Amino acid sequence: MKPPLAILEPNSLAWLEALYRADAMLAEHVRAILADAGRADVCSICGAADHPADYQIAAFRPMTLRLCAYCSQLYCATYGTNVSAS
Ligand SMILES: [Zn+2]
Repeated sequence: MKPPLAILEPNSLAWLEALYRADAMLAEHVRAILADAGRADVCSICGAADHPADYQIAAFRPMTLRLCAYCSQLYCATYGTNVSAS
C-alpha cells in the first residue's frame, strides 16, 4: 500500500523542496518572493500579504499553493482545475 501524497504546507521548507523537484524555476521564483517578504504567510506567486488562502490544485505538484485572490484566478485558468480553499 502506497502512502498517500503528503499535503505540505505552502511556503514551508518541505514544500519548497518538493516544488524544486517538480519545477525548479518556479521554486526559485517563490524562494525570492519569500526572501523579499521576510515571512511565509504571503502569496506564493506575488508575495502579497493581503489575506492569501491555501489552495489544493490536483494538477500541481506539490499540490498546494498559498495564493492571493488575484493569483488564485490566474492559477485556476492556467491549470484548468478548480481550486478549493483548505
Ligand atoms: Zn498573488
